[in-house]
Amino acid sequence: MKSRHLVFLGPPASGKGTQGRRLADENGLAYLSTGALLRRALRDRTGLGEQARPYLDRGEYVPDEIMVPMVLAWVGEQKEGWLLDGFPRTVPQAEALDASVSEKPSAIILHVPDEELRRRVTCRLECLECHRVAREGEGEKCPKCGGVLAPRADDVSASFENRLAEYRRLVIPAITYYCDLQRARIVNGTGSPDEVYARVKG
Ligand code: AMP
Repeated sequence: MKSRHLVFLGPPASGKGTQGRRLADENGLAYLSTGALLRRALRDRTGLGEQARPYLDRGEYVPDEIMVPMVLAWVGEQKEGWLLDGFPRTVPQAEALDASVSEKPSAIILHVPDEELRRRVTCRLECLECHRVAREGEGEKCPKCGGVLAPRADDVSASFENRLAEYRRLVIPAITYYCDLQRARIVNGTGSPDEVYARVKG
């Protein structure tokens, strides 16, 4: 892994959180999941949470005008390397990120077939406290922080299908953006988390 600025892109339930977090931890990179940040804001009923709620409830993406300043502020605070999980999700987000940093990020794209994604969301649990994705058979409590493991509200079927449609409409062009600039690496995201991680590490 050469770049110290990384972005993780992939459809919902492709394993961005699991893989991104591990790659960041093992390489001393600061980690931000924009989805987890939004879900926390929703739960805590902050101003951001109330702005984002209608979009998340419908499985739609939160507008660039809300996302871009929030993420660029976080990136601006980082002194060392970083990894963004779930940002950018649109071409304007990718362009805004590029314009704000001198060392341009590299993109890792997780590819998982739709049927496998649908299978994964029906059984996925996430910690309500630290937002770590649970592994199968971990029980009701997060082994890392003791928080409650629960299904994500936006993993219900209708919302999931919307998120998949939004992915095709908005994220695929962002992936093309990184491919055209030769800053993308597409990784097969099927198999066990360890198998996928071995590929992600490259
Ligand atoms: P995730 O946890 O990455 O699957 O994100 C969950 C939801 O948060 C997405 O379906 C979007 O509604 C919203 N979201 C997260 N990141 C972004 C982003 N970069 N741009 C727009 N919406 C986002």
